[in-house]
Amino acid sequence: MRGAVWDGTSLFVSDRLTLRPIAAGEVRVRVLRSGICHSDIAMMTPHLPVLPVVLGHEAAGEIAELGAGVEGWAVGDRVTVGTQTPCGECRECRRGEPHNCDINWGFVPSHPFTLDGKPVASFANVSSFAGEIVVKASQLFAIDDLPPEQAALIGCAVSTGVCASRVLGRVRAGDNVAVFGVGGIGVNAIQGAARNGAHVIAVDANPAKEAVARQFGAAAFVLANPSLDSATAAAMLAEGHGPIDVVVECSGAVGAIETALRCTKRGGRVVLIGMSRPGSQASLPLDSFVTGGEVIATMNGGALPGRDYPELIAQAQDGRLNLADQVSGVWSLDQIGEAIAALKSGEVTRALVDHER
Ligand SMILES: [Zn+2]
Ligand SMILES: [Zn+2]
Repeated sequence: MRGAVWDGTSLFVSDRLTLRPIAAGEVRVRVLRSGICHSDIAMMTPHLPVLPVVLGHEAAGEIAELGAGVEGWAVGDRVTVGTQTPCGECRECRRGEPHNCDINWGFVPSHPFTLDGKPVASFANVSSFAGEIVVKASQLFAIDDLPPEQAALIGCAVSTGVCASRVLGRVRAGDNVAVFGVGGIGVNAIQGAARNGAHVIAVDANPAKEAVARQFGAAAFVLANPSLDSATAAAMLAEGHGPIDVVVECSGAVGAIETALRCTKRGGRVVLIGMSRPGSQASLPLDSFVTGGEVIATMNGGALPGRDYPELIAQAQDGRLNLADQVSGVWSLDQIGEAIAALKSGEVTRALVDHER
């Protein structure tokens, strides 16, 4: 089987990967398309505790084999794959917080692959840079006729962005919502808010992002100036576009986070979903924040797959969410390096790998 492996120094494509047999309750999925997320790129350091690893956590594919006891699915069914696999038994699961399960995020290493006889780890319970994966049946969601390149985005970009606005941001009609960072997650935060009736102000340091932001429903665009201090940037934003009820911060840049914490109105909410560099710190303006405000940080926008994915898929199918225009670049697995470079440069909203090419 083919797949892309990160060994700590390079990302290389091998056709000698093997996958372990499936167990009861599991399903083997032939991956058709995989999104590439900035979180995958962030993992490509020499310091990952578990190496080598197959990255990739946005998958759509076709069921290839069903494990014992799996019901409700058939070989050939088309699915998108969620990353969350709550164990149901740990302290967090038992008290009704499966999203905080300790093994939910794939932090507990598993090694479903081998390369030349040596174990290769999975990532985020998915590893969609491989041509085939083993997942729990509970991770699967039917996509029917939704094209796989769109369906692949449900598991991270779409669910994280849309739910950051709707679930954590609790965006209502008439809210002024600023979305910082117009990338794969940002465009979904924009459309999640705009289609709830909010007035959305998109903020990005790249002027080319204005057209994309407006395409997904932003009513205004502010060109961020990273050389401004955060107090000045926040004051300009609040004066020009305020009061800001909710900020969804998708960039992870410390300056942007500090601007977000300063520009929201009293009682407003700041949702932090961007990945910051390791060791980053941001300061909170206590004199204003203490009068009322919420900071909410999460990895997944507060999405719960069982509750949210079927609805997101339905909204994509009937056009209430625009997924087609997020698919801005598709590469073969052999060209994954070029796909990553395009995503890093910001020239595409979402880069995908097509395992069928
Ligand atoms: Zn992601
Ligand atoms: Zn658990």
